[in-house]
Amino acid sequence: MKCKKCGRPASIKLVVYNLKLCDKHFLEFIESRVENAIKKFKMFTRKDRILVAVSGGKDSMVLWYILVKLGYNADGLFIKLGHDYQVSPAYEKVKKLSDMLNRPLIIEDATEYLYGLSTFEAAKILRRPACSFCGMVKRYLMNKAAVENDYDVLVTGHNLDDEATVLLGNILHWQTGYITRSYPVLEKTHEKFVKKAKPLVLNYEEHIKLYAKKRGIDFLPTSCPFSLGATSKIYKNIIRQLEDEQRGITLSFYLGYLREKENIFKIEENTPQLHSCEVCGYPTTAKVCSFCRSRRRLQEKLERKNSI
Ligand SMILES: [Zn+2]
Ligand SMILES: [Zn+2]
Repeated sequence: MKCKKCGRPASIKLVVYNLKLCDKHFLEFIESRVENAIKKFKMFTRKDRILVAVSGGKDSMVLWYILVKLGYNADGLFIKLGHDYQVSPAYEKVKKLSDMLNRPLIIEDATEYLYGLSTFEAAKILRRPACSFCGMVKRYLMNKAAVENDYDVLVTGHNLDDEATVLLGNILHWQTGYITRSYPVLEKTHEKFVKKAKPLVLNYEEHIKLYAKKRGIDFLPTSCPFSLGATSKIYKNIIRQLEDEQRGITLSFYLGYLREKENIFKIEENTPQLHSCEVCGYPTTAKVCSFCRSRRRLQEKLERKNSI
């Protein structure tokens, strides 16, 4: 087995691309797919200030590493969701990568906004599913951190499997609004809504994992237990099963969506009007954003609890 690029012994066979590569050329191949996504979807340039949301998992860690390696001006953002983050393995790994890359790391503390509670504890009191509540808090704080620190774009580590999974779920329920908005780049449509991008969308999850291992990036092996709802897990398994049966189906499913999106779904009609939240000023489609509504309800519940 020889590397297609250099002819030396290949160490990896990427069946989906019909490519045999040595370690060096595998790493370059993954990096070039990130660069391609950035250019193809006009995500950002080397002049932009980029904030990478880093959780300690393989995707966001690899993303930060590759962006810095490709010469982008990318800093990290870690969101503290619970207590004791200084000693948490996630923070430890993110801090290590920040030191290794010699790039600043911004820390945003969710507990400060949730009356000292972790997102898990707050979700319990609000009787909300931990996963969706935590996701809402993370999205709000990521955007806020990027806006307040003057970044041009916020990037997240969503990979091809993630995006195909979300797309499948949205199609099954015909959530056309979500379908148009789950594009790999979202433009700035409000003064407090930073541009968002997902540069890993052209890479399979297993290839990102392999990249992390080959580069010696120390990541958290298990993602947050609440990161995927039960239904999303089923969809992801379906995507994986399909991929096992038909190599490349995930990629063609997703690329087909990107190609056909404009034809199938009328974007303009599905783009909701963004207003400024009456409480915090950040964008929302309602009068008060879901973050502020949750905080208000949480405060009421806590007050009631304390007065008994
Ligand atoms: Zn090679
Ligand atoms: Zn608000």
